Amino acid sequence: MSKIPPANQLINTDFKIGILGGGQLGKMLALAAANWDIQIHILDKDPSFPAGSTCSKFVAGDFNNYDDVYQFGKDMDVLTIEIEHVNTEALLQLEKEGKVIHPSPTALNIIKDKGLQKAFYQAQALPTAAFKLYESGAAIKAAIADGQQSLPFVQKTRTAGYDGKGVAVIRQTTDLDKIMDAPSIIEPLVDIKKEIAVIVAQRPSGQIEAFPAVEMTFNQDANLVEFLLCPADISPAIAAEAEQLARSVIDRLGLCGLLAVELFLTQDDRILINEVAPRPHNSGHHTIDSCYTSQFEQHLRAIMDLPLGSTKTKMASVMVNLLGAPDHQGAARYQGLAACLAVEGSKIHLYGKSVTKPYRKMGHATLLAPTVAAAMQNAKYIQQHLKITT
Ligand code: ADP
Repeated sequence: MSKIPPANQLINTDFKIGILGGGQLGKMLALAAANWDIQIHILDKDPSFPAGSTCSKFVAGDFNNYDDVYQFGKDMDVLTIEIEHVNTEALLQLEKEGKVIHPSPTALNIIKDKGLQKAFYQAQALPTAAFKLYESGAAIKAAIADGQQSLPFVQKTRTAGYDGKGVAVIRQTTDLDKIMDAPSIIEPLVDIKKEIAVIVAQRPSGQIEAFPAVEMTFNQDANLVEFLLCPADISPAIAAEAEQLARSVIDRLGLCGLLAVELFLTQDDRILINEVAPRPHNSGHHTIDSCYTSQFEQHLRAIMDLPLGSTKTKMASVMVNLLGAPDHQGAARYQGLAACLAVEGSKIHLYGKSVTKPYRKMGHATLLAPTVAAAMQNAKYIQQHLKITT
């Protein structure tokens, strides 16, 4: 049962949504909320962060600190996150006191730890790559020396990994020095044909809606999503299976709000769950410009227990992340912006980070076109011509 009032009593200038995290996802959530005349309060270290310019109120504090989260949360009507690595003890306490929190801190605790997340899939008989848990880098090396652990494999630290940090691919003995010293999971190297993602949303009264599956390609140097194609070039049967899987995961996690489900399509056409993120996600940025409802609006609808919006696509699109140039660090300049804005169907989003760093996500562009192939051509043009330098 939802603990918040129905829509006609809910949307008003006093209604406060609190978001832990003030990066670009917080900024885009605040932009979506601005259409509804509700307040967005943000907790993060510094008001110069991206969400600082778009929220109703910025509270300086640490979302990993119990007291900061507790004090911030207790005045909010609904509390949510834009990053999963937050102090969940404070959220559990607020939940006990009756606060509406989406995603639930219990689900967050499972998702934050890749070991618990994998164990959850296994317990629920949801398809995912096999895995083993290790306490440390030394324990992994000892298992290799004993013949208990064979190569190749992928090591992922259980906590605090993001955007490919905390992931090491160990193919041969010369890679052993890449092993990280932290509690980790080890997975076999999956024979990946495509990486796809499905963003799904659930509201407390039970409705679940999924966006069409998208296909992601990666920048190998940065280990970040480079292009995102919508719709994915997969068969209708695979698309339906991916969507069904995403629906099952959000249902079994009992989680409300958005869930981004990252999937591997294997060479033999099996679908495996890689990992999930319980919040708006890079693989849903195109929805702002190319779908009936953006992922940000969908998250707000879901956490406020309002009817979920249509997830239909208006047009084919390709999203490209705009990364800081490799050899520049300092105040950001956007070179080539005019030429890129002149491209038909280009929607450019700059996050407003004051400092650029090599491969830092500084913005994204969504290219709208009648076909994914045409959008991709324009996305490549943007990637070549928009340079973020100092
Ligand atoms: P992050 O939390 O940093 O996004 P992921 O678990 O998504 O970490 O891994 C990052 C990337 O590493 C994936 O998108 C994929 O390209 C690759 N990868 C992860 N696990 C495997 C695996 N078991 N086999 C092959 N490649 C993998």
